[in-house]
Amino acid sequence: WEDQYTLSIRYMVSKGGSEALLQTLVDTARTASPDYDILLPLFRLLAKVGLRDKKFGQKALELEALDVTLILARKNLSHSQNLLHCLWALRVFAASVTTGAMLGINGAMELLFKVITPYTQKRTRIIRAATEVLAALLKSSNRRAVNRGYVTSLLKLHQDWHCHDAANAYVLIRRALLLCLKHIANLGSGREAFLAAQGMEILFSTTENCLDDNDLEPVVSIIIQILRQCYPKSTLPLVTATSAYTFSVPGSIPSETPCVLTEEDFEDDADEEVDKDSDSEDVKEQDDDLETDVNKLTSKPGLDRPEEELMQYEAMCVELSCNFEELESKPGDDLHFEETQDAKHSHIPTVTSPKQHCLNKDQSSWRQESQDTVQTSLLSMVKMGRSTMHPASKKGPGMNAYQNMQSSGLGIDSSGKEIPDIQVSLKQDAWDIDMISCPSISASFSNSARPTETAEVVDKLLQTYPKHLPFHDPHLYMAKSRRTRSVANFKMMAFPDFWGHCPPPSAQSMLERKRGVQRIKIFEDVQRLIQPCDVINKVVFSLDEPWSLQDTASDCLRFSSEFESGNLRKAIQVREREYDLLVNTDVNSSQHQQWFYFKVSGMRAAVPYRFNIINCEKPNSQFNYGMQPTLYSVKEALLGRPTWIRMGYEICYYKNHYRQSAAIAGGASEKCFYTLTFVVTFPHSEDACYLAYHYPYTYTALMTHLDILEKSVNPKQIYFRQEVLCQTLGGNSCPLVTITAMPESSSSDHLEQFRQRPYQVITARVHPGESNSSWVMKGALEFLVSSDPVARLLRENFIFKIIPMLNPDGVINGNHRCSLKGEDLNRQWLSPSAHLQPTIYHAKGLLYYLSRVGRSPRVFCDFHGHSQKKNVFLYGCSIKETLWQAESTVGTSTISEDITYRTLPKILDKLAPAFTMSSCSFLVEKSRASTARVVVWREMGVSRSYTMESSYCGCNQGPYQGLQFGTSELEEMGAMFCLGLLILELKSVSCSHQLLTHAATLLHADEEALDHHLQRRCSSSSSVTSELDDEPPCMEEIDYITDSSSDPEGSFSELDRQIQECAFNKDEGGEEEEGPGQGRKTTP
Ligand SMILES: [Zn+2]
Repeated sequence: WEDQYTLSIRYMVSKGGSEALLQTLVDTARTASPDYDILLPLFRLLAKVGLRDKKFGQKALELEALDVTLILARKNLSHSQNLLHCLWALRVFAASVTTGAMLGINGAMELLFKVITPYTQKRTRIIRAATEVLAALLKSSNRRAVNRGYVTSLLKLHQDWHCHDAANAYVLIRRALLLCLKHIANLGSGREAFLAAQGMEILFSTTENCLDDNDLEPVVSIIIQILRQCYPKSTLPLVTATSAYTFSVPGSIPSETPCVLTEEDFEDDADEEVDKDSDSEDVKEQDDDLETDVNKLTSKPGLDRPEEELMQYEAMCVELSCNFEELESKPGDDLHFEETQDAKHSHIPTVTSPKQHCLNKDQSSWRQESQDTVQTSLLSMVKMGRSTMHPASKKGPGMNAYQNMQSSGLGIDSSGKEIPDIQVSLKQDAWDIDMISCPSISASFSNSARPTETAEVVDKLLQTYPKHLPFHDPHLYMAKSRRTRSVANFKMMAFPDFWGHCPPPSAQSMLERKRGVQRIKIFEDVQRLIQPCDVINKVVFSLDEPWSLQDTASDCLRFSSEFESGNLRKAIQVREREYDLLVNTDVNSSQHQQWFYFKVSGMRAAVPYRFNIINCEKPNSQFNYGMQPTLYSVKEALLGRPTWIRMGYEICYYKNHYRQSAAIAGGASEKCFYTLTFVVTFPHSEDACYLAYHYPYTYTALMTHLDILEKSVNPKQIYFRQEVLCQTLGGNSCPLVTITAMPESSSSDHLEQFRQRPYQVITARVHPGESNSSWVMKGALEFLVSSDPVARLLRENFIFKIIPMLNPDGVINGNHRCSLKGEDLNRQWLSPSAHLQPTIYHAKGLLYYLSRVGRSPRVFCDFHGHSQKKNVFLYGCSIKETLWQAESTVGTSTISEDITYRTLPKILDKLAPAFTMSSCSFLVEKSRASTARVVVWREMGVSRSYTMESSYCGCNQGPYQGLQFGTSELEEMGAMFCLGLLILELKSVSCSHQLLTHAATLLHADEEALDHHLQRRCSSSSSVTSELDDEPPCMEEIDYITDSSSDPEGSFSELDRQIQECAFNKDEGGEEEEGPGQGRKTTP
């Protein structure tokens, strides 16, 4: 009936009902002795109509109803029933900003204050109505309230109500009082007055013991908002806003002196900053960003360089001209290699059995390996559909996640014995990785005894090295790290990168968000200000002031990050076991703080440590939706569990009180920062642990991996060529890998088949913080050189050109997004410069070359990581979809478009457990015009040009629903991507007859199961993934709302109810107080 009721009132309003009622009010009130038998029902009607008429305030103002109501209220200060009715009308009038301001000017505020002060529990119904009017009024009249000095009185009232309302019977009065304070706090002078009146202390002390009291929820949530709003803003505790590392870009003018951070006045009313997410593919696109210019969508721009320059890429495609004469030399060998190789090298990234990984012997010695390895084919894994996946059991806070692994056999060597002597080496502190430095660099410290010691320690360590980490070799890693050039000239290696990583035995569930965790953390933050007795505030690590490290006492953690991909800039011990951490901005930049990777040592086991990364930049994070950071324990590694695990609890991500002025931030408005907070209990005392945003994957790890891969393949079968695409600004080689099958023989037929194989081009890691993309790439590479029948078929039919790391410098120096020039390289594809963006320039050049010789790739895909969404998905390019989405119909009918761009994502949706079609998008945005995806699509005419995004977090659909990604899931995605390329080809019209026959034979055995699986995936995915919200509802507001209009300050029905109730009571003739309990019933 509510709807019907509202409708009839709306109808009445449309017919001038409001004006008629207001006019009646004015006429009646202005008579010598107003008739309250008319006025009271009239007020009730006015309030009900007013709630549903948006222009009511304006109408009341014009008809002078404001004045008469105020006069009536003044006259009836001692007549509760009449006063209450006036207050309801005022409440409706005050809802409009203009009339609110007018009421303020006309003395309504003073009147209301007279009603609500001093504290009394008599006439609570009146007090509640008056407080609610006041709150509505203060939205527009807050300045007036500050000038009148009402802040102190409001705080006093809050305290009185808090003390006397032990039964929480008057929660709504208390809430309305706090809303008054909140509106005042929107004003700089209001916050000043609030702080001067000890507002922080008062609100803090009245809330301290009821943070998790359900009855007080409406009160506590406002208090938290006020505390955050009034917390004095300050600059970050850093010397400069720019990176601690600077790199002088060749040929460019060194930037002016870095802007020094000084204390600034942030008391301006600049709270309403716009949270602009600059992350490239991370935001749901706005429609007005869509490219609607048909010419831009359809035209193909000319070369961005002289034609003759393209010839240099001929040397990177020698497969197109090579004669393979050596194939003739030893005809007998082929057979021999084929026999042994088949069972040798069958590593496929799999999430099902990491034990199996461990059983694989050192892959570099494949020639000697026995043939007992169980062969897994990727197809059989598709078939299994991850039915064997079991998430790790839910861990309670404080539990050591490593404990789940104890029984997994990871501490056992390949012969089944426990790894000896580890306990012995653990007792010495010699294993501390601080001492492992690159020999070439430590040579410069030859005066100290360290180099020899170091060598000994490393040797001793390596004797305990488990021989079971596939595709890893610490010796090789150490050798490779010597060639890696960093801006800061890192001397250390991080132990996890050196020692290697083995996936945990089971996938880890997403972390369930603890109720009220954000509020508790914020309260702890405020406590620093109010009760500083336990605050230490000691800098224990700083790249800017390394000397301050000298006197680090033993009772604090030790930090370091001066190793590849490390990027901690400063650590401050806040309390005994709480640390504020600041990560470095990207080199030559003053932004992009999100990635972190650092080492911590000197801890005690099993006690909680709180870490706060206080200079994060993005407005929201998957850390609010179940994601945990990753941790690697050196002691665990030496005990045979060299594993990055998801770790940390009480995790949340929220806006903090640090600001950067617009001038320094280089934007139009002040810049805000966000805190990522988490608690860690370490598995061992005096351990060295590494914490990272996501599983690290360094440039040196890539170079090591490529060498091992190259050694692992049988060169008679697999054409694996590793070369240098170009040198980076920082002096590192950017590798280019070519993978295909060797021609069957050097006969002209076979050579012809070899040279005619279509290309597939895959790139990754243009954004250094997206280490997940490297793990996907690792999975793809390992799969492509494996003996899996699918991989063999892929090699026999395609030439893979892979650039696994487009931004080595960024990765090495711990950047999140940029190159050493401080640029997002994925915004440079339109016109890259050979000198400033060499990797992009040459990647584009190679693609140009392929295009010019008529060999554009079947698929181009650039692997990325996504910080806001879950699952894995593709972005592609479609003219028609873009125009449709933009509702632009110009010329769409005449445009013909190859619609096969949707085929690959559809295939992956069926094959890959982590992949979902529902997040894919094929829109071309203006702001993405210079990304790899769009440029390769437009300029090279590759219709299947993609960005593949993998979540940092995990999946909310499919077999992995509710799980965080481990490295195995990411690697599996890489392998599945390759399988997808094969199936895509089988579905294409250009697919060769030969491939179809081969694939038919291969797939036949699995056909039934595969079909079955695909169908199942199809039907289940359509029901599970359809229109799933990207995020589950977060239980708390991520941040306080500065726009107070969106506050639910009492709904229509709430005032309706009050009026209804009162009318009922009035019939009984009594004037009742609002009884205990009534307030609580309506608690939202
Ligand atoms: Zn990216």
